Amino acid sequence: MRSRYSAFVVRDKDYLLNTWHDSTCPPTLSLDDSPDWAALQILDSGEDGDRGQVHFRAIYRTGKGFGYLEERSDFIRENGCWFYVSGETSEGSLKPGRNDACPCGSGRKYKACCA
Ligand SMILES: [Zn+2]
Repeated sequence: MRSRYSAFVVRDKDYLLNTWHDSTCPPTLSLDDSPDWAALQILDSGEDGDRGQVHFRAIYRTGKGFGYLEERSDFIRENGCWFYVSGETSEGSLKPGRNDACPCGSGRKYKACCA
C-alpha cells in the first residue's frame, strides 16, 4: 500500500497499473493533474486471509494550505502479491492551528514550518 502511494508521488503509472486487480483496473491512467502530495498517514489496516483493507489519509499541498484524500481501500492477494481492488474515498481541506503538528509530516509546529 505504501509502495502504491510512493508510485503516485513519483507518477509511476506502470507500477500502479501492475498492482491494480484485473477486475477493476482502468485501461489507462492519467496522473497529470494529481496533487502535490505531502504526507501519508495509515489510519488502520488489516487482513483476513487473502483480503486486505487499508484506511489511509494522504495529505497534499494546495495554494495556501493542505487538503486531504481519505480512502478505505480493498486489496486482494493472488499468488502472494497484493492487488488494489477498489476504495471508498472522501476529500476535504485541513485547517491546522498554528501550534498543531504540521500536516506535511515534518514533526514541527505548523507556525514554524509550512504556515
Ligand atoms: Zn510543514
